[in-house]
Amino acid sequence: MINEEIQKQISKGKMLPLMEEFYTIQGEGFHTGKAAYFIRIGGCDVGCHWCDVKESWNANLHPPTNTDNIVNNVIKYANTVVVTGGEPLMWSLDFITSQLKKNNIRTHIETSGAYQLSGEWDWICLSPKKTKLPLEPIYLKTNELKVIIYNKNDFKFAVEQASKVSDTCELYLQPEWSNKEKMTPLIVDFVMKNPQWKISLQTHKYLNIP
Ligand code: SF4
Repeated sequence: MINEEIQKQISKGKMLPLMEEFYTIQGEGFHTGKAAYFIRIGGCDVGCHWCDVKESWNANLHPPTNTDNIVNNVIKYANTVVVTGGEPLMWSLDFITSQLKKNNIRTHIETSGAYQLSGEWDWICLSPKKTKLPLEPIYLKTNELKVIIYNKNDFKFAVEQASKVSDTCELYLQPEWSNKEKMTPLIVDFVMKNPQWKISLQTHKYLNIP
């Protein structure tokens, strides 16, 4: 049971339900191959049935952690942070990004966009989900649209979502891991016919790193 004081700190973003933090290589999307410190925040109610981090969903399982301590850990290792989840925008991220920026850390977020955008970001990767669509204001701020392809209908969803982002937004299709043998050839074909899109692979899984 979280007491009132902790609840207050969480609402200000001074504490966050931290699931895990680790320094690794970004495996997906535009920044693939670059070193970054990952902060995975617990809590998500978007409900993707193929989600590979279902352990993140219940925020109560992840200890409220002082944001200052998280930032201090980042500074020791990296010049770029990727804030992910769960759905990180369930929490106020203004405080953590202000502290990261004070320390000249580049701030990246990976989000479904289903909650109001908070925080100051150098890179927004939007991965929209049909079960809980992004809120409209995030689309034009998105640097990278990454749509997960689980079945054929997802191509139509990807095209719809791409019509909402800016012309400079990078467009990626990523095969859902458990269905990648089936969907990757279809993605290859789609990208060759629609070269404004690129393929994103979960290279960290091939590299066997977190
Ligand atoms: S939005 Fe992300 S964390 Fe949430 S259920 Fe979907 S894949 Fe999992």
